[in-house]
Amino acid sequence: APALSAPALEAVVDLDAIAHNVGVLRERAGADVMAVVKADGYGHGAVEVGHAALAAGARALGVATVTEALALRAGGVVAPVLAWLHSSATDFAAAVAADIDIAVSSTAHLDAVVTAARGLGRTATVTIKIDTGLARNGVGPADWPDLRDAVATAVAEGSIVLGGMMCHLAHGDTPDHPLNDSQAARLDACVAEMARLGVRPQTVHISNSAAALTRPDLSRDLVRPGIAVYGLSPLPHGFDDLPLIPAMTLTAEVVMVKAVPAGQGVSYAHTWTAPHDTTLGLLPAGYADGVPRLLSNRLRVRIGDRVYPGVGRVCMDQMVVDLGADTTVREGDRAELFGRGTQGGPTATEWADTIGTIDYEIVSGIRGRTVRRHR
Ligand code: PLP
Repeated sequence: APALSAPALEAVVDLDAIAHNVGVLRERAGADVMAVVKADGYGHGAVEVGHAALAAGARALGVATVTEALALRAGGVVAPVLAWLHSSATDFAAAVAADIDIAVSSTAHLDAVVTAARGLGRTATVTIKIDTGLARNGVGPADWPDLRDAVATAVAEGSIVLGGMMCHLAHGDTPDHPLNDSQAARLDACVAEMARLGVRPQTVHISNSAAALTRPDLSRDLVRPGIAVYGLSPLPHGFDDLPLIPAMTLTAEVVMVKAVPAGQGVSYAHTWTAPHDTTLGLLPAGYADGVPRLLSNRLRVRIGDRVYPGVGRVCMDQMVVDLGADTTVREGDRAELFGRGTQGGPTATEWADTIGTIDYEIVSGIRGRTVRRHR
């Protein structure tokens, strides 16, 4: 049979890197890990990454929505799964039936969970998500006393168990920011108030990746890293020596190689013109696949042991690299768009830095015709 060729555009996710990164996080944080796999594992595949993280010693998985949590169950995940972002469409009954730990931010959420638990004749697991300063979801100070008392009542009547109490940091990537400490103190105070009502959460957790890596004193029972599980740093430069391994490598086939004369304008609006006779390589990757158009004329691509500049506009489906006059690159060769940064190659972090965003947005935005493969 003919050899199967690699897809034209492929994101390979290295599950050994995921396992390695989970180990680094556990060691640095000195706590158990809840690996955050929302948004399809930040674009890496939630089910595959989830299984790999759990096999590497993570104790639980965290996602935003109940739909994401149910997808993990459908993918065979039996470990604890927490979901923390709800809407009027959230199927709390399905979540309770699937034994999802439901993070509640309001008494309305709690009421919906209690109703679902009663309807099913089951005990639901609930985490209280407390807004200690991020001002996103989570219960704020004004509504905390009502939720606190309602949780204590629901625990007493046996419709829920308190799986956890959590908050999320606003300045986790600034390790010495004073708000990190005041957010932790606020959570600890809420835990103490619950204890005075005779209810103790099974787990308390605060830290995202940045805090897990730099502020082990903020680790409670668990830490909740996302981006570092994927081998990318949440921290500003200066923390670049972290022993994390980027898990995703994005490659494309060089689908066409052609010689052009000096003066040839390339791609829409000819924003780049060949300064001398040269050879162009065409890659079947564009902004519809998650290559930001803002990277036009600012990309670097590794082919073999050499790095070539992307030239002209990134289009919807295609982009062009300048291979130079006497290139050895041939049609069918593979180009690395980003990966581990070995052999001088580009990284997702470099893309993010170039266009003023964060690598979270790059990897979670890889889509379109990209074929994902785990190894
Ligand atoms: N915990 C919560 C509640 C989150 O929303 C997120 C992601 O935004 C994380 C943890 C993981 O954050 P990071 O990817 O920065 O580690």
